[in-house]
Amino acid sequence: MTVQDVQSFIAGAWLAPDSSARDIRDAVTGDVIARAGRAQVDAGAVIDHALTVGATALRAMTFHDRARMLKALALYLQERRQVLYDLSFSTGATQKDHLIDVDGGIGTMLVIASKGRREMPDGHVYLDGGIEQLSRKGSFVGQHVCTPLQGVAVHINAFNFPVWGMLEKLAPTLLAGVPAIVKPATTTCYVTEACVRLMLESGILPNGTLQLVTGDLGDLLGHLGPQDVVSFTGSADTAYTLRSAPNLLRNSVRFVAEQDSLNASILGPDALPGTPEFDLFVKEVHREMTTKAGQKCTAIRRIIAPQAQVDAVIAAVSDRLRGTVIGDPRDPATCMGALVSDGQRRDVLEKCATLATEAERVFGDPDAFVVHGADAAKGAFLPPMLYHCADPDAASHVHDTEAFGPVATVMGYRDLSHAIALVNRGQGSLVASVITHDPEVAREVVMGAGAYHGRLYFNNRDSMAEATGHGSPLPHMVHGGPGRAGGGEELGGVRGVLHYMQRTAVQGSPDILKAVTGEWVPGATTSQGPVHPFRRSFDEVQIGETLHTGEREVTMEDIEHFAHFTGDTFYAHMDEDAAKRNPFFPGRVAHGYLLLSFAAGLFVDPDEGPVLANTGLDNLRFQKPVSAGDRIKVQLTVKKKTKRTDDYGEVRWHVILRNQDDAVVAEYELLTMNAYSSTPDSLA
Ligand code: NDP
Repeated sequence: MTVQDVQSFIAGAWLAPDSSARDIRDAVTGDVIARAGRAQVDAGAVIDHALTVGATALRAMTFHDRARMLKALALYLQERRQVLYDLSFSTGATQKDHLIDVDGGIGTMLVIASKGRREMPDGHVYLDGGIEQLSRKGSFVGQHVCTPLQGVAVHINAFNFPVWGMLEKLAPTLLAGVPAIVKPATTTCYVTEACVRLMLESGILPNGTLQLVTGDLGDLLGHLGPQDVVSFTGSADTAYTLRSAPNLLRNSVRFVAEQDSLNASILGPDALPGTPEFDLFVKEVHREMTTKAGQKCTAIRRIIAPQAQVDAVIAAVSDRLRGTVIGDPRDPATCMGALVSDGQRRDVLEKCATLATEAERVFGDPDAFVVHGADAAKGAFLPPMLYHCADPDAASHVHDTEAFGPVATVMGYRDLSHAIALVNRGQGSLVASVITHDPEVAREVVMGAGAYHGRLYFNNRDSMAEATGHGSPLPHMVHGGPGRAGGGEELGGVRGVLHYMQRTAVQGSPDILKAVTGEWVPGATTSQGPVHPFRRSFDEVQIGETLHTGEREVTMEDIEHFAHFTGDTFYAHMDEDAAKRNPFFPGRVAHGYLLLSFAAGLFVDPDEGPVLANTGLDNLRFQKPVSAGDRIKVQLTVKKKTKRTDDYGEVRWHVILRNQDDAVVAEYELLTMNAYSSTPDSLA
């Protein structure tokens, strides 16, 4: 049998392992299948290559350029994912497990790419929040902006998700504009290496943006400086050792940690046997115990059920576990494959021994279980094991010892506040789930346990058909947790990208801020175009270009007509005395929506042209009532432009309605889709 040399990709070259390499065994057969690692990792060369080649190329791109790159990369991997499936069987994972790791990783990258296009600008500066008015007249304003860190991101990943674990960190990092150095866990690094090879072969990534260090990292962390980030996933002990390295502390190097946690699932007090919730609870617990043979950072370790239902839960979960076929992960009939290595199997058994000092094993025997299609003595197989802890208040190991395998402990609670106290004994977890049909239970759990959890997952008969599962971190939502879980937050949409950017408070005049952000800011200089802005294509119309319309008088007939035409005969528009009794109005006033319609009537240029559609309106505020006899006029200014498709881009207009005294009566942002003069280069 050939033993694969898992290589590292450093400074643009693939480097083979040397004599110091570690052996890697097949989880199912126990055979040595690969080796990885080099005694020397030239940390200086790795970092220098990332900074001088990778970072330069990435930072020249806009967020949208990088988002398009990520999408292309994800689609490239999607077409070639069979290669990764084939390799992953040797990690002990089943085809169902591959869908979580490989397809889950690709899907995460696609979502981050899509968020980059929809929620980040087609520029180089991300705006965090709106303009802050720092002065009375508006000549001095503030804006928080985020720019890419000018360092490298070192990703130290866990063994359990060799693909997802890399892609879920890589996508936000590259979207931010920061080059990545990936160090996968050695036991499964051959899968990561294959995925990196695919990404590099695609030619989609600029040189220097992705490097791979398999085996040990050498003294790379000792070379990191204040602009660098370490994102770690793995055990609490390793996280503690790494994050307290003097160099990282001295340089305030950002350290994002996602580490083992004692995640719990609570069976709601209402979810009695016979309800859809009870069955759902049992199903979710079974899935979390057996998927990836329980080697998931989000897996349920503590099953917290009403005291009166403990026996029923043990019986129902045991029943399901009994049907779990353990064996060769390549066999489609197998439900649960092997653990990643014999070392991991031994570790789980040691942790089980610790749990057994406080809890009784009620299902599963590591010395007596059936393995189908594989040799139980050679592979890292274990059966699912269920424990029952009769006194969870007095116990401590069941709340702090994570057996990272198909192991969970059932414990009873007296009332909901007791359940919350127990769930919080985990001292900070990635996720807790609550299966309940009672919204009040959900509210109480959020108030009592939210502070201890990165994610709270509620499921019941209404959501179960579409719910994504207790154990699935979603790219849109925060993944990470406080305290024991590491104190980090990965993912969470754009939140995950901001780990690799610096937020800076920028203060200055509106013109300064306009130059920095690329968006028009109220108070900044405006300009007048050669023709009406609606006659100008997306490329022609300029940021700050402004149209000032003439005035239009609002009459009582207009108000009456609008009221009866639309059916909006609200008293403030129709009844003088009633309107006067209202503290906001001097008497009958014009409808806000009438003003918006009149505004459009004032500013549009009606002929067919580059403005294709009005797609929305944001941040509308009516600031002063308009009465019959008042005259309104409009200032329409181009605030921001964003390329959207090959055919059109979005123009965001700042619209201000003023009355005859120049007082602002309404303000909003209008969105239109505008055609290009020609297809922009970046989209060609
Ligand atoms: P480790 O914490 O040992 O390893 C995690 C990562 O850190 C691996 O890439 C590992 O590399 C690397 N690493 C270890 N030591 C160093 C070091 N000194 N310098 C740089 N990198 C280092 O976790 P394991 O993967 O061994 O798993 C052990 C336990 O961690 C599990 O049993 C489980 O309890 C928990 N765990 C939690 C996960 C989670 O997502 N929350 C995921 C996986 C594990 P290498 O593999 O080369 O040693």
